Amino acid sequence: MHGYIGSVRFFKNLILLAVIVMIAVPSAFAGYYRHAYTRLKAEQTETEELHQDVEVLMQKEDEPQESDEPQPEALSVDVPEYQNLYPDFYAPQPLEANERVENTIYLTFDDGPSEYTDKVLDTLAAKGVKGTFYLVGTGHTDAKSLERMRRIVAEGHSIGMHSYTHDYNKIYSSVEAYLDDMYQIFTLIKETTGVTPTLFRFPGGSINSHNRGIYQELTSEMLRRGFIPCDWNLSSGDAAGGHFTEAQLVQNVVGSAGGKKRGVVLMHDTKQTTANALGSLIDQLKALGFDFAPLTVSTSPVLYTYESNNG
Ligand code: ZN
Repeated sequence: MHGYIGSVRFFKNLILLAVIVMIAVPSAFAGYYRHAYTRLKAEQTETEELHQDVEVLMQKEDEPQESDEPQPEALSVDVPEYQNLYPDFYAPQPLEANERVENTIYLTFDDGPSEYTDKVLDTLAAKGVKGTFYLVGTGHTDAKSLERMRRIVAEGHSIGMHSYTHDYNKIYSSVEAYLDDMYQIFTLIKETTGVTPTLFRFPGGSINSHNRGIYQELTSEMLRRGFIPCDWNLSSGDAAGGHFTEAQLVQNVVGSAGGKKRGVVLMHDTKQTTANALGSLIDQLKALGFDFAPLTVSTSPVLYTYESNNG
């Protein structure tokens, strides 16, 4: 054994070992990084394709067509059955959401109406600000709730569909189930307020862990019917789970608003903290130089944020 260490054979084996290590270790790392890169690239491509899809869908029809290129033959595509469902479930005007007014904040309130909606409306009126309310039907068909829906409209705010049940498992189980649920909130808002709603917001945002398999079909089918989805790019964090104080809710929004040209703020008028914090939030956003506006059928929406499921 003693003779082996220091022998020619020992050094030969040592060099061989060193060569093996030099080859094997970088290969292992390269393999790992290649795998990680491929996965990242696939996710990125998926996101880019989605944005392109939506941009194409949102583009106005009056854009000039390239005519010198040979036009491909139209493919005959089988139309999904669900396109024939609810023939009166269409937005009342053509899709033209392309308006981008800079330095504008769009305050949005989901999941209501609730007992705190009145205070939210009082504050908005006192500050001279218009917002947008995405309504839920379940539990909100009593006289008081219906009265609040009418008050939202009467005071000049925008009203939109959030869903009837807000039950993720139910509404995201199929395109048909989603349409069935949305047709119910569409009908409730129309019959209660006289406004045919065009705006809507997906519970959990347009892409979430519950609708992952069908979100493209859902968005595409709703756009085909003329409805306009909007996500958010500023979150107050007021949804269940985030136990923020009023000052923290304000800071969550104001702290991220600075660099934004347009901000869509996610809030819930079902939260007392939100109702209490709203006045201060508006004052601080005004101090940053922002104006406020309700989302309308002309507003270019903010889409596809990847925030946590608190919509
Ligand atoms: Zn919600």
